[in-house]
Amino acid sequence: MATHQEKKLAQERKHKTTQNGAQTSQGQWGRAWEVDWFSLASILFLLLFAPLIVYYFIMSCDQYQCSLTDPLIDLLTGKRHLSDIWNKTPTLTCRAAAIYSLWVTFQVVLYMFIPDFCHKFLPGYVGGVQEGAVTPAGVVNKYQINGLQAWIITHVLWFANAYYFHFFSPTIIFDNWIPLLWCANILGYAVSTFAMIKGYLFPTNAKDCKFTGNFFYDYMMGIEFNPRIGKWFDFKLFFNGRPGIVAWTLINLSYAAKQQELYGQVTNSMILVNVLQGIYVLDFFWNEAWYLKTIDICHDHFGWYLGWGDCVWLPYLYTLQGLYLVYHPVQLCTANAIGILALGLLGYYIFRVTNHQKDLFRRTNGNCRIWGKKPDYIECSYMSVDGAKYYSKLMTSGFWGWARHFNYTGDLMGSLAYCLACGFEHLLPYFYIIYMTILLTHRCIRDEHRCFSKYGKDWKRYTAAVPYRLLPGIF
Ligand code: NDP
Repeated sequence: MATHQEKKLAQERKHKTTQNGAQTSQGQWGRAWEVDWFSLASILFLLLFAPLIVYYFIMSCDQYQCSLTDPLIDLLTGKRHLSDIWNKTPTLTCRAAAIYSLWVTFQVVLYMFIPDFCHKFLPGYVGGVQEGAVTPAGVVNKYQINGLQAWIITHVLWFANAYYFHFFSPTIIFDNWIPLLWCANILGYAVSTFAMIKGYLFPTNAKDCKFTGNFFYDYMMGIEFNPRIGKWFDFKLFFNGRPGIVAWTLINLSYAAKQQELYGQVTNSMILVNVLQGIYVLDFFWNEAWYLKTIDICHDHFGWYLGWGDCVWLPYLYTLQGLYLVYHPVQLCTANAIGILALGLLGYYIFRVTNHQKDLFRRTNGNCRIWGKKPDYIECSYMSVDGAKYYSKLMTSGFWGWARHFNYTGDLMGSLAYCLACGFEHLLPYFYIIYMTILLTHRCIRDEHRCFSKYGKDWKRYTAAVPYRLLPGIF
């Protein structure tokens, strides 16, 4: 229905140019509209291999004590065949399907039917109905921010069960980990496919759809910008945060409980991973309103990348350290444990302060103090798809004067700390830092490309003022 109209709109956009001197089309500062061969090859690679990568990591823990090389050696030497590995893999079970359905339904109920009450009694916390950023079509969406409350209720119930009611074992997640993987995949593919069909047939906002004409690109990177069902069920906010990130801390707790069950104790490395990742998750929910202004919500369309990624990639691969520690219970010496804790906390501090500085700057339109002084900034302008002109500011003070993405640097330091907690015996727990380095470097380049399309010569002035991306003097 919307297809023809939208394709026409997309064509029209291609022929407009910006007032900023950049040779780009107005309103296309979301993503590339013409899919180059490299993007297409990367997308096909990810669509084919990302599910296999997740399976490989989880299977190698289940069958090979987290060794990434042993399965390959077995296969190459003919000691085992693919079918042997596959036959030993736990299948989808009714129990896992019931747990997963209950879990997702519970999160939907918390998201949709319990308006936020945390902001009424937690000083400094921003919850309740909040506005997102201006979309390329000039729309400002409203969101019900109640993630912190959902996280608290879920965890209170978890602890009540683990230590009082004993309805189920706290190791339930670990014990059903592979059957749950199949459920997460079903949801991930279902939601991505639904989002694609919805984009064609009944988009929430037709002007914010993007049709590149390439099926794989559209499926992967999404057509709709902010798909919704009804007024409040926002796909991006729900899937980015709820089933996956609320689960993150529960998954880690389940791993800690498994260590306790298997070895009679929880190691200090497991505690470190639980604490550092717990801080990161809590930070996410405490700042959920800020999250509305990040790239995921402001710029990414909703496709397989976010839909499947949030359901499968995030809960399975971001929690690999805890899973590894169930198989290899590492007890760190005190000096190492303190060093890793310090690195993790410093990384978190940089991550939080940098993000806070930008948030404060943008919220107050530059009328604030950064490191005790009025911030310096570069004035810039851009246009939305309907030709309306908007003004914005790019700060060059605080951490934003050190590098253009110092928040990513802090994030990477924290990520490294989680991995170091697992010692050096295996590569598997280091997947996270390798992945995050690739993700955030790519994200940095992608964001800069988008910002250049959006701000044109004003962006060039900004990059001249702040020449480094992640590490001052190096990159
Ligand atoms: P940022 O929060 O850095 O947002 C980038 C946007 O901020 C730009 O597109 C631009 O948007 C605006 N901006 C850029 N420079 C300036 C400036 N100097 N002054 C004011 N505004 C500026 O990026 P993300 O949304 O990617 O990341 C948010 C956080 O989330 C990061 O700390 C990151 O580490 C973390 N993250 C974690 C992930 C994970 O998987 N664990 C994945 C992705 C992110 P505009 O168009 O409004 O000008």
